[in-house]
Amino acid sequence: MVFIEYRSTCYSSDGSIKYVFDVPAKGFHQSLHKKFKKGERKSGIESAFFNIPNREDNKPEYVLCLSSQAGCVYNCFICANMFDSFYGCLSLDEINEQMGMTLSRDGNLEKILSEDAVEYAFMAMGEPLYGNNVIKAIQKHEPYVADTRFSLSTIGAPGTIDRLTNSDLPYPIRLELSLHFPNDKLRRQWLIHDELFFKKDPELTISTMLDEAEKYAQKHPGKITLNYVLIDGINNMEHNIDEILKILEGRSDIFYVKVMWPNITSSSVFSWGETGSLKQSKRYSPNKFKERLQEKGIPATLFKSKGTDIAAGCGMMTTRFRGKRGIVHAEELRIPQADPSKLGF
Ligand code: SF4
Repeated sequence: MVFIEYRSTCYSSDGSIKYVFDVPAKGFHQSLHKKFKKGERKSGIESAFFNIPNREDNKPEYVLCLSSQAGCVYNCFICANMFDSFYGCLSLDEINEQMGMTLSRDGNLEKILSEDAVEYAFMAMGEPLYGNNVIKAIQKHEPYVADTRFSLSTIGAPGTIDRLTNSDLPYPIRLELSLHFPNDKLRRQWLIHDELFFKKDPELTISTMLDEAEKYAQKHPGKITLNYVLIDGINNMEHNIDEILKILEGRSDIFYVKVMWPNITSSSVFSWGETGSLKQSKRYSPNKFKERLQEKGIPATLFKSKGTDIAAGCGMMTTRFRGKRGIVHAEELRIPQADPSKLGF
């Protein structure tokens, strides 16, 4: 049975591969004020296959990055899905088919078989804990290789991490939380750009998210990542480090901060160098920010996305720029890269 339709493949100069698929749009689209009937309109989803050797903690070197929604219900300003992009959650069948179609191309299945290990990361388009389909897909997954792991990054809406904690999970699932901002006020300004979610969920706060994550870690041991993309003059200052220290105060040492290099299509990079009123503040580059966190006793790493030249990096996958059908190489896409010299590093 065909649930999604292959559209194109994009090859990065660093070996990463991105796949674009068409899926039927479904549900209610906010900006179009329209509910789509089955088959009435198509939308796009994207997945990617990454080879990341020598990962810490013996994590699998092959990673399939998968979408959970067409667009995203949350429209965060740090993400290419930032404006009314949502065309519905993927069904269980669509998730499975996306995984199968990604593995069936470019010898990807053979690659994971050769290592006998793989990580499926629900970190492409969409919030994976919105609804139950991702959890169900994990529960029903038939493994191709012995070392099969999952990971997902979530905005941490109240009750969603608890739901994951209380589910039967047949595979290890590594949790990443989209912290990105050190206080609830900034989070409300930059993430989940729909007030409705905050009205419905007044508990949509950093402390609720961390409380639920701690409960998850008690049941499923392992470190929990706090993703933090730097936005110059907004969240990369000394007092932001103190705020992070405060929100982690008294928490167990299960969390570490992943300082993320900004990618060009996440709006984060637009702010670099344009924050005149904040020029007096001490602002840090991603590497320096990571070092300052470590100096203050907060475990931290620096992360640079792969596949940025094909818009497969963090925050770059979107339904909007689906490209033409067929094979596309990075040089044809001409996606601008975050240029360190322009970012003042
Ligand atoms: S950052 Fe995540 S939750 Fe926010 S719009 Fe992008 S995919 Fe959705």
